[in-house]
Amino acid sequence: MAGLVAGSIASNEGLSTILLRKGQSATAYSSGAIDVMGYLPDASEPFSSPKEGLAAVAGLLPLHPYSIVGYSEEVQEDNVVNEIVSRTRDAITWLKTNLKGTIAQLRGSFKSNIHAITILGTTKPTCLIQETMYSETLQEREDGVLLLAGITGYPDFNPSIAAKTYLEDRLASSGPPRKVGRCLLQITPFGKSYNLSSIEIARHLDHENSIEELANQLKMHVDQLGATHVALPPVLGLKNALENKKELEKLLGVEVFELLGFPPSVPGLRLQLALEGLFRRSGGKMLVGHEAISSFTTDNRLSSVTAKAPRREMQIDAKAFILATGKYIGCGLSGDENGIHESLFDLMTVTGTYHSAGDILPSRFTNRVAISPEGQPLYSCGLTVDPHFRPVKEDGVEWASNLFAAGSVLAGYDYSTEKSGLGVAATSGYSAAKNAINFIKEVF
Ligand SMILES: Cc1cc2nc3c(=O)[nH]c(=O)nc-3n(C[C@H](O)[C@H](O)[C@H](O)COP(=O)(O)OP(=O)(O)OC[C@H]3O[C@@H](n4cnc5c(N)ncnc54)[C@H](O)[C@@H]3O)c2cc1C
Repeated sequence: MAGLVAGSIASNEGLSTILLRKGQSATAYSSGAIDVMGYLPDASEPFSSPKEGLAAVAGLLPLHPYSIVGYSEEVQEDNVVNEIVSRTRDAITWLKTNLKGTIAQLRGSFKSNIHAITILGTTKPTCLIQETMYSETLQEREDGVLLLAGITGYPDFNPSIAAKTYLEDRLASSGPPRKVGRCLLQITPFGKSYNLSSIEIARHLDHENSIEELANQLKMHVDQLGATHVALPPVLGLKNALENKKELEKLLGVEVFELLGFPPSVPGLRLQLALEGLFRRSGGKMLVGHEAISSFTTDNRLSSVTAKAPRREMQIDAKAFILATGKYIGCGLSGDENGIHESLFDLMTVTGTYHSAGDILPSRFTNRVAISPEGQPLYSCGLTVDPHFRPVKEDGVEWASNLFAAGSVLAGYDYSTEKSGLGVAATSGYSAAKNAINFIKEVF
């Protein structure tokens, strides 16, 4: 997310832009919903809107990437919150506008968080969800009846457990729908009927006629329950998900939507592919399977990086560079018995409380419980940057005048507890690119 947003912004400005991508990304593993700010760490009540969340961050977490987004020498102290909100809104609006018409078209707005339903039957506050995950009326229609449809042989989604959890949630908030049912469907991608993955099912549903077959099976369950809405796991297709949703709605006469899921994530992959399309259309050049392995610096300026692919090595010279290598999945950061390290330039790393992370044992920075409200301290580690998003050294001075950083390689926030991952990546990518463009205009 961070690299592709930054690259698209730079390329749209007419700069010649190259994006190196070594391999897999957290973006493709994500649920594909764009979280901006859901919770403060340790809070149990979610924010009602991204704006409310950003105002809290501005007041309490001055080194959070969102707070850095709002920094500018011209901004008066009493206007910082407005600046953070307005710059983040610009980035998120840019994303929504530019993904329109793609396989990851988004719904939602900055005015309020959506409470999207997950495959566990829980809900999570998020800013934008993919159109295929959106239900216009589920939480408004007093006579709403929700059917959760699972797939035999697909172990990631248990509709019975999800129905129970979701119904408890709705009863506690005394909102509709007040009736939730479940069913199991038979889908056999290429004849396979067990241990199915979401990607296999999505590919199957991208083929002609498969949606009609699915609608035929669903029709009986919809009629039996009197369902007004049908929720499926996120498998509606990699290429044709939105068309498939619309076709199902037409054939069944009820609203159909996807739940938020876990990796491997079809909507995450749709988002990654849509962002790559956006970058290419903006004129950017993408080298997939190319790893930046070393760099050359002169006079406080990074002049080139060397990229390595299985069959070649090349030197890439540029006026400015953006480091958006992600955290542990992307491999921007790695940890061993000596500490947590930035993988490419060996930049200084810090913890979420801004102590050195270069010598902490990763095992000391993890909780035994994988998913907990306290999160994992390891997630808050990363780079510390100056107000222009340039990584700094121990003395607080930038490592190089033309190296900017964005996305989850940054320290100071835990996306898993805050529900802020793709929002921080998009906003910091957008801001880092704008800063890099200004730097080029001023210096060259
Ligand atoms: C399971 C899971 C679910 C999540 N769900 C959500 C969600 O629902 N909503 C949300 O908002 N956030 C979610 N997040 C968080 C979100 O996905 C991340 O915060 C966000 O994707 C980070 O984006 P990024 O661009 O910084 O890094 P990444 O998406 O990880 O991208 C980094 C890229 O850099 C490349 N790279 C690394 N090193 C090099 C190198 N040396 N040379 C070339 N390329 C390199 C990698 O190959 C990768 O492609 C989730 C995360 C996970 C793990």
